[in-house]
Amino acid sequence: MFKYPPIDDQILDLLRTKDEFIVLGHVSPDGDCLSSQMAMYSLLLKLGKTVHLANAGPFDRSEISHLRSDFLAHIDSELYHRNPIAVVVDCSSPDRLGHLGAEIDGLTTVVFDHHSSGEQFGTYRYIVPRSVSTTLIIMQLYKALDVEISQEIAEHLFFGFATDSGFFRFINAYRGETLRLAAELVDLGVSPNVMNDRMTGGKSLGYVKYLGKLIDRSESYYDGKLMISSSCLSDRDTYITTDKPSDLLYTMLLSVKGVEVVIFFKELEMGVTEVGFRSSHQSTVDVGALAEQFGGGGHKKAAGATVHQKISETRKLLIEAVGKLL
Ligand code: 5GP
Ligand code: MN
Repeated sequence: MFKYPPIDDQILDLLRTKDEFIVLGHVSPDGDCLSSQMAMYSLLLKLGKTVHLANAGPFDRSEISHLRSDFLAHIDSELYHRNPIAVVVDCSSPDRLGHLGAEIDGLTTVVFDHHSSGEQFGTYRYIVPRSVSTTLIIMQLYKALDVEISQEIAEHLFFGFATDSGFFRFINAYRGETLRLAAELVDLGVSPNVMNDRMTGGKSLGYVKYLGKLIDRSESYYDGKLMISSSCLSDRDTYITTDKPSDLLYTMLLSVKGVEVVIFFKELEMGVTEVGFRSSHQSTVDVGALAEQFGGGGHKKAAGATVHQKISETRKLLIEAVGKLL
């Protein structure tokens, strides 16, 4: 049975005794990152602190665009010189903070994360790679500091967990503690039904058609062990959507018999390609380690990288690299 390790007293004391905090998360924030930032923000507010939220964005996906105004895009010098504590959540290395990484340089930094790869950083760290989400790590902090979890906070904690567990799909045997924590949140007033609507609903028709096109474009390599799909710049004009199609795309492509690795290539601009990776439950391929070879990172089964190469070249490099692992 898995148990969360105790949180260092030094970290707890810092949170108890300091007055001003900035809560940061990784660029292109996803559900777990934003929910962790919100839950950490509420925790510090409940402890009576002055708290700021910051994230380099972008906030253009429909499900998060309304949050843009709550987050600072920069740390101004007045704030920096008050010497706040930087609390970084769901972020495996300083470069994943985008331009904010340099802007908090020199501040006392505490990192709460669950990524298995990356670069150790921060003055203090509480890293639990076996935690399904960073929000469940923040939940441990609520318990350790004996702060009440309101229904609203419980929703943030559950949402991050739902995002990173594929709504319970990626939880393994003997990880009952994850379900028990989720059950506690449901007893605090979270409706998994409402959370699912929030996670998967509200999309445009353009989004669904875009997803269909990406499925249609998928190709298989190495006897079906690798499946890829790509999106080029011109898709932006054809399919008007700011949403990431990837999660459903990965689910569809991973459902193909015999597939081990799925890679999605997205041309961000000429010569810059975003790459998303997933590997199947049965596969031994560690896509986090693979992404690291290309300057990215993530987890064994889900990872990403941004490669400064043309999309055609990036595809070639990645197909070759996967071939060596299969
Ligand atoms: P997603 O495909 O959902 O954006 O990302 C899957 C996982 O890979 C997440 O845990 C995310 O934090 C990580 N990830 C995605 N892109 C990058 C990247 O460019 N660098 C690093 N280090 N991790 C990434
Ligand atoms: Mn996460």
